[in-house]
Amino acid sequence: MAMQLPGTDERAKHLALRFRQHFGAAPDGVWAAPGRANLLGEHTDYNAGFALPFGIRQRARVALRLRADSRLLLCSEQAGACELSLADLRGERIAGWAAYLAGAAWAAIDAGARGTGLELLLDSEVPVGAGLSSSAALECATLLGLAELWGLQRSPLELARLAQRAEQRVAGVPCGLMDQLAALCAREQHVLWVDFQSEEVVPLALPLVAAGLELWAIDTRAPHQLASGAYAERRNACQQAARQLGLHSLREAQPEQLARAAAELSPPTLRRARHVLGENARVQAAVELLRQPGPEARLAQLGPLLSASHASLRDDFEVSVPQLDVAQAAAEAAGALGARLVGGGFGGSVLALLPHGMGEALAAGVQGAFAARGWALPQLLEVQPAAGAARVL
Ligand code: ADP
Ligand code: MG
Repeated sequence: MAMQLPGTDERAKHLALRFRQHFGAAPDGVWAAPGRANLLGEHTDYNAGFALPFGIRQRARVALRLRADSRLLLCSEQAGACELSLADLRGERIAGWAAYLAGAAWAAIDAGARGTGLELLLDSEVPVGAGLSSSAALECATLLGLAELWGLQRSPLELARLAQRAEQRVAGVPCGLMDQLAALCAREQHVLWVDFQSEEVVPLALPLVAAGLELWAIDTRAPHQLASGAYAERRNACQQAARQLGLHSLREAQPEQLARAAAELSPPTLRRARHVLGENARVQAAVELLRQPGPEARLAQLGPLLSASHASLRDDFEVSVPQLDVAQAAAEAAGALGARLVGGGFGGSVLALLPHGMGEALAAGVQGAFAARGWALPQLLEVQPAAGAARVL
């Protein structure tokens, strides 16, 4: 009997069964990659700064089989079917959801893999557009599978860079590296301390259970209308601030340096830079807490850092929207130790740190606040730090 892979789960087996029904043969394998949350460190990845992302239990699974021809038959349990060919993989934009899968194939081929035709069936539990990076989960599961089937030997960090390249070039999203890195490198019950300058990744234990705490994501379901234009504007403002300070990146800026240059920077540019410096400092403060022996005694002190991050994203980086602010305030009112928007902003989720067993009170508080404003009710899900991308069947 074949040995069970450690990550094998019922959903992966079911996906293999569905693959056989759909394509008429068993897949060569099934690979999975998690969505991600981020404890602290927002809009720091493209500023060569620090962040503390982690994988979550919700994952994307991809069943793959190689074909002898050049057809790419892509199918998503959530989105439908699409056919492309190897000749379509030119590193140019592809419209729609297939871009994330075809992009991964293009990036692998561009890195030296000998591409073949494919049959691919995708099933994902990561909510779309919830700030939990459903896109990186698809890319990373696909890329890990293709790397194995096409014999491309790369470290998780190198695969993360390829997945980022796929999203930038083929999906046309100017993303940083955080999401892909988290999806590929995540560890059960750990956050990843990422230094985006050295690209060093240090897993730090986050003993939530021992600390009597829980993390919840409140998906506000606010539409992401402004997201892409504003994201590019924020990146440019950060670059501009670094240039005016005579630095390569805001990572190198000291608070005194920023204070001295305050008069030369436009007020919005100054605010953007202030967020990045403060956010890096908050990550480092959290790292100090987590690196001391017996961190469970101190995890509650993360709460105020989360809430300070939200205030900075709202007031200085200006990437919040009313739904995120209301969810954040309602979470605190319902007993959260701290809460903040997670992901790029302009929609998506609020991450809340709660004493164990208070999920229902959180849901009631947040849903009450949304109902009172006539907004669609948010979805709540507990997020537990889970393992990164792996073969699961
Ligand atoms: P996020 O990564 O925060 O969830 P993005 O806008 O970056 O949001 O990525 C969402 C996109 O990823 C969707 O619009 C869709 O194109 C693709 N996607 C995510 N999950 C699936 C899925 N299960 N099937 C097909 N496409 C998906
Ligand atoms: Mg995304």
